[in-house]
Amino acid sequence: MSHVTGLEEKARALAEVAEEVARCRKCRLWSSRTNPVPGHGNQDSDVMFIGEAPGYNEDLEGKPFVGAAGKFLDQLLGIAGLRRGDVFITNVLKCRPPGNRDPLPDEVEACSPYLDRQISIIRPKLVVCLGRHSASYVLSRSGVRVRSRSGGTSISAVRGQVFKARFEGLAFLVMPTYHPAAGLYNPKLKEILMEDFASIGRVVKGIREGSILI
Ligand code: URA
Ligand code: SF4
Repeated sequence: MSHVTGLEEKARALAEVAEEVARCRKCRLWSSRTNPVPGHGNQDSDVMFIGEAPGYNEDLEGKPFVGAAGKFLDQLLGIAGLRRGDVFITNVLKCRPPGNRDPLPDEVEACSPYLDRQISIIRPKLVVCLGRHSASYVLSRSGVRVRSRSGGTSISAVRGQVFKARFEGLAFLVMPTYHPAAGLYNPKLKEILMEDFASIGRVVKGIREGSILI
């Protein structure tokens, strides 16, 4: 009998999510997408990065963050002492919204169970939310209440902070930051993203060395 390791089980469970995403018609976005983008990376990573939705290049390639924002994300990961192959990267929506428009609430509702399952399978210690839509979903889903006057999640108010999340019996840290695309043409946001990724590096080191307990 073959010995099934936790790693193999995780890989199989993630592949199952990806197969379901490929067949999915739970929201309108299946009809306009070229390829589904379920997520990519190391299933055994202690860090997960969650963006908003596939864009033009991601839709063509079926992989997250492969366009200009992805190149910048690679640079940012370097600042944190991480490499893309070490971490798992996905999005709240697995299909591209036409013209890269914002996700609609019913699309997030339809698609988020896939993300929830990915989190449950990977069991990360740190989840980094890239941008407002990801932060808003992950924080509210994991019981973190953030007060803001608008009622929504103000990304500038929460970025760079570390929150303790509780999610379906799991405990992990959540750090929201700006979406890398926001830093591409805005030098101020680029600088903040670089600072936030430096702190992500420190948090990951603390988790791995045991000086940060979750
Ligand atoms: N923007 C995102 O939010 N996700 C991607 O995968 C690419 C760009
Ligand atoms: Fe299904 Fe999500 Fe794609 Fe909508 S965006 S069709 S819910 S996989």
